[in-house]
Amino acid sequence: PLNVPELIGTVVAVQANFYQVQLETQGTSLPETILLCTRRSLLKKMGQQVMVGDQVVVEEPDWLGKRGAITQVFPRRTELSRPPIANANQILLVFAIAEPELEATALSRFLVKAESTGLEVCLCLNKCDLVSSEQLLYWRDRLLNWGYQALFISVSSGLEYTVNSDHQIIQKSLFQIENTFLENTLLYQLQDKTTVISGPSGVGKSSLINQLIPSINLRVSSVSGKLGRGRHTTRHVELFQLPTGGLLADTPGFNQPELECSPEELTDYFPEAKHRFQQGKCQFSDCLHRDEPNCSVRGDWERYPIYLDFLEAAIAHQEMLQQQK
Ligand code: GDP
Ligand code: ZN
Repeated sequence: PLNVPELIGTVVAVQANFYQVQLETQGTSLPETILLCTRRSLLKKMGQQVMVGDQVVVEEPDWLGKRGAITQVFPRRTELSRPPIANANQILLVFAIAEPELEATALSRFLVKAESTGLEVCLCLNKCDLVSSEQLLYWRDRLLNWGYQALFISVSSGLEYTVNSDHQIIQKSLFQIENTFLENTLLYQLQDKTTVISGPSGVGKSSLINQLIPSINLRVSSVSGKLGRGRHTTRHVELFQLPTGGLLADTPGFNQPELECSPEELTDYFPEAKHRFQQGKCQFSDCLHRDEPNCSVRGDWERYPIYLDFLEAAIAHQEMLQQQK
């Protein structure tokens, strides 16, 4: 047999027994291609599932018919279940700064859920067109104290608001890279990463996804013959390549988070508590930071009451699990 170089790609959509694989083209002479692939029977026999986001090896490419066969799946670095997606690096948590009103406990519930996935968490506040500069700066400073450098955007006006060192707000185009590509902008945060958007309903997630992926209907129509009747009749997650780099899932993640983590884990999901813990160390290694002596986490930080609230919920959840055994 000929020694054909391996083709490696990312599964960007799955339906029935077909997989759309976007080939890695960096450093090769390959054109940007998505091949429609089947899964080799050996993989099926081994029980190897293929999910969106998987890195795979493709063989027997048919360049004219744009077909191929998946022969190998690389081990997953991460795996989300809602939506089902492998190797995501980041959760873009979207909330609205107003309408609906931004509320610390609801936001924290999502933040804790997002942190518990182990992925990077990028917090983004939308609808900034509805608030004054003072309100924007108020939330910026408040969230910095929680350990988050949030992004401030308005999808409907296509603007992003950054704050300079003089505490002045600077407006930029949200969906176009201007001559200065600053680190604290949304497109920069999405570059070179696989991102899943999450957040409650009504905050502008769909509006944002539609703006970020102008080709969202294009790609589906080009393969609709084999993959069904397009995304309007299917509820499968797909990954889309952003024009400015990075992959974005077209389906938002969890939107009604339940606190299912263990009480011991909770400190890790509050960045400001984790910081206090690492700085000070508590006397007891299993300290839950309630009334234990020599605790470095208990204190007058803003979200401490929220932490205690969530801790009660986590303890109750754990007790419920133990009773079921
Ligand atoms: P989703 O439920 O999170 O997907 O939110 P949608 O994208 O459906 O948006 C909910 C509502 O918020 C719609 O009426 C949008 O037009 C509106 N909306 C989205 N983005 C903005 C924004 O930046 N500013 C304002 N004022 N409204 C927005
Ligand atoms: Zn403690």
